[in-house]
Amino acid sequence: MEDLREKYEVVIGLEVHAQLKTNTKIFAPDGCEFGCEQNTQISPITLGMPGVLPVLNKAVVNMGILTGLALNCEIAEKCKFDRKQYFYADLPKGYQISQYDEPICGKGYLIVNGKKIGITRAHLEEDAGKLVHAGADGLAGSSYSLVDLNRAGTPLLEIVSEPDMRSPQEARAYMEELRNIVRYVGVCDGNLEEGSMRCDANISIMPKGSDKFGTRAEIKNVNSFKALERALEYEIDRQIELVEDGEEVVQETRLWDDNAGVTRSMRGKEDAHDYRYFPEPDLMPLVISREWVEEVRKTMPELPEQKRQRYMGLGLSEYDAAVIVEQMDLAMFFDEVLKLGGNPKIAVNFLMGEVAAYLKEQKLSINDTKLTPENLVELISLIEKSTISNNIGKQIIIDMMKDGEKASAIVEKKGLSQISDTGAIKEIAQKIIDANPSQVEAYRGGKDKLFGFFVGQVMKETKGRANPQSVNEILKELLG
Ligand code: ADP
Ligand code: MG
Repeated sequence: MEDLREKYEVVIGLEVHAQLKTNTKIFAPDGCEFGCEQNTQISPITLGMPGVLPVLNKAVVNMGILTGLALNCEIAEKCKFDRKQYFYADLPKGYQISQYDEPICGKGYLIVNGKKIGITRAHLEEDAGKLVHAGADGLAGSSYSLVDLNRAGTPLLEIVSEPDMRSPQEARAYMEELRNIVRYVGVCDGNLEEGSMRCDANISIMPKGSDKFGTRAEIKNVNSFKALERALEYEIDRQIELVEDGEEVVQETRLWDDNAGVTRSMRGKEDAHDYRYFPEPDLMPLVISREWVEEVRKTMPELPEQKRQRYMGLGLSEYDAAVIVEQMDLAMFFDEVLKLGGNPKIAVNFLMGEVAAYLKEQKLSINDTKLTPENLVELISLIEKSTISNNIGKQIIIDMMKDGEKASAIVEKKGLSQISDTGAIKEIAQKIIDANPSQVEAYRGGKDKLFGFFVGQVMKETKGRANPQSVNEILKELLG
């Protein structure tokens, strides 16, 4: 398979749905919080009762504009809503209000790992409800499905990319950066597992060097970054095999089965004309003045790429900057530390080291712990003043996360302050030397590596509290 892959070029384009974090639905006043009791967020508008009229939620438009600006999109001066008709049990109206030929956002782009990925468009639409099938949610053994319409009418922004990606890894990186962006601009919580961000991946193959794209398959049901990458990898091999066997890839929608690790044909791909789109007669076209766009632009926060660049300017490695930005809570915490004047490099070492490990192990966000930016800054200052060593800092940061205690209080209580008194260190060093005559002889005879042994002994004796630099200097002096 690897050899065959050399013969083909992969083409990928993603359609990403981001659920917008508004208080109410896109055309109705009911709330749209996740996890409410079934069928409690369902006004007559959401249910599509006869005679009801949709009213556009302005917050949705603001979020659409803001995201569009973050993705370098043209913001339409005028856009409109259309009805997309299809019949399904989770769609009581029999149609979905979407945007067809005049979306809110036009062409844009996103730079991912230095490569420009085109955005074709982004449009607003309402979500459908949810079917709960037999076997799920306590319906085990039943032969029916239930409909929960809480999600119906939740605002979505569908962001469509150009077919610009050339590998599953690139597609994943694009999706990750897109998630960073919607999170940082505050329009979506970007939670793939809960479905607040969903991705349909379109993929085709063509012989290397060709400029004619192959027929694409659309893969649905990928609800993690890992799944996206795996589904695309699987699909490349499937399509290559078909073509190599002289068969054709058919345009269709396929479902990713994460457990089996395969995609399965779900249905033939509908064409736009199957949906019988027509302009939504109950909503006026939306005119977006340039003043409105500028008002929204003023609310633009720092974007992930700007944040990474700023961190790298402070001396962080590209990798560290990327890892911190990927975890927004951590980045926000780090920014607070910087505002309070904390040393960036020492802060990052803690955040990426002990703190990240603890959070991962406990499955917590930094905001769930009792560590405050102020307390981390105080800890850093103790290290900078050589009151404690870096190692002691690593030992107490976990307590600080658990108990919220200040570093100075822990240091005092446990007697952890650093021994910088050279007289005291000298005394201990001499004691170690006297107690280990054979090692001293070997060291003096040329076994340089033994120096570490003496350092280790002094550290052990002082429970890690001796100033490492002084220990080194003193041992060099005493050992000759
Ligand atoms: P639809 O809504 O019917 O799926 P779109 O025209 O909106 O169709 O395109 C969907 C996605 O498919 C876009 O992200 C686009 O980049 C991608 N795409 C189009 N053609 C190809 C192709 N030949 N191979 C891979 N992706 C493609
Ligand atoms: Mg599609």
